[in-house]
Amino acid sequence: VGADPSEIMLAAERLRAGGLVAFPTETVYGLGADALSPEAVARVFALKGRPATNPLIVHIADAALARSLAGDWPDEAERLAAAFWPGPLTIVVPASTAIPRTVTAGGPTVALRVPDHPVALSLLGAFGGPLVGPSANPSGRTSPTTAAHVRSGYPDLMVLDGGTCRTGIESTVIALSPSPRILRPGIITADVIARTLGRPVEYSTRTIDGPAQSPGLQRAHYAPAAPAVLCDQAQLEILLAGDQPIAVLTARALDLQAPHRLIRMPATPAAYAAALYASLRAADAGAPALIAIERPQTDSREAGLWLAVMDRLSRATASAP
Ligand code: AMP
Ligand code: MG
Repeated sequence: VGADPSEIMLAAERLRAGGLVAFPTETVYGLGADALSPEAVARVFALKGRPATNPLIVHIADAALARSLAGDWPDEAERLAAAFWPGPLTIVVPASTAIPRTVTAGGPTVALRVPDHPVALSLLGAFGGPLVGPSANPSGRTSPTTAAHVRSGYPDLMVLDGGTCRTGIESTVIALSPSPRILRPGIITADVIARTLGRPVEYSTRTIDGPAQSPGLQRAHYAPAAPAVLCDQAQLEILLAGDQPIAVLTARALDLQAPHRLIRMPATPAAYAAALYASLRAADAGAPALIAIERPQTDSREAGLWLAVMDRLSRATASAP
C-alpha cells in the first residue's frame, strides 16, 4: 500500500525534479511538491486551479525543521508541536525568507504541520525537505480521503496509496499572534489546545464572500458536484415529497423510496468527519438532482468536534460565490 520503499524513492525523485506526487496523511490526501521550489509550487496552484490568495500548508518530518522555516518560532509553537505533532494541527508562525512568497500567498506567515501517517513521514524523510500538501482535489471541490478519490480527479498523477484517511477532515489551523486563534476548526479543538497553552483559545473562522481577501475563508468549499443543502427533518420531508431524485445524508435509518437514496451517516462527530467526504462523493455518484444533508443532532459535550463538522457542511452547501 504505497509504503513500498521503492515507490517512496521514486516519489521522492519526482519531487526533487520539481514534480507532483499525491500522498496520504491522517486528514486527507495531499498534493505534494517541493515547498522551497517556486516552480513546483506554481504547478500545484495550476493543477488545483487554486486562487493565489489561498496559502499552502508546509509539511515537515519533525519539529526541528519548523525552527529553520519559521522566521520566529515562539515558545507556544514549541509547546503545541511537542503536544500535537505528528498530528492534525497546523501552526501559523512568521515565515523565514527560505519560503517562496507564493506558498504564503504573499503574506508574512507560514503554516507548518507534521502529518501523522507512516507513508507521509517516509516520503518526507526520503525527500529530505519540506513539502506543500494542499488537498489533492480541484480547488473548491470535495477533499480526497482515498487514493481512488485522488485518481478520479487526476488520473495521470502519481499517488502513494496509504488506505483511507482516518481523520477525514483537514487539520485544525491555529495562529498564535497576537493571541491564539483557530482559523480553521478540526478535530483538535480549542478546549484541548487551551489546556496545553494554559490560556484561552478563540475561534476566528470568519467567512468572506466573493474573491478571497484573506486566506482560507472562502464561503463555498469542499463542494460536491450536485447542489447540496443543509436541512432539518421537516424540510427534508418536503424535499422528499417531490419527484426529483435526492441523495439524503442522515444518521437516521430512513426508509427511502426510489428515486431517492439514503447515505447513512454516523451519529458521533469523529466518525461523521471520517465518513463525510466519501459520503458526499457516494451521493454525487448517483447524479442526484440534490444532495440533502440533515443537520446532525449535535451533542454539547462534543461541541468542538461538531463545530469542525458543521464548518465543512456549511461550506459544502454554500453555492459558489
Ligand atoms: P488546504 O491545503 O486546502 O487544506 O488549505 C490550507 C489552508 O491552511 C488554507 O486555506 C488556510 O486556511 C490555511 N493556511 C495556510 N497558510 C496559512 C497562513 N500563512 N495563514 C493563515 N492560514 C493559512
Ligand atoms: Mg482543500
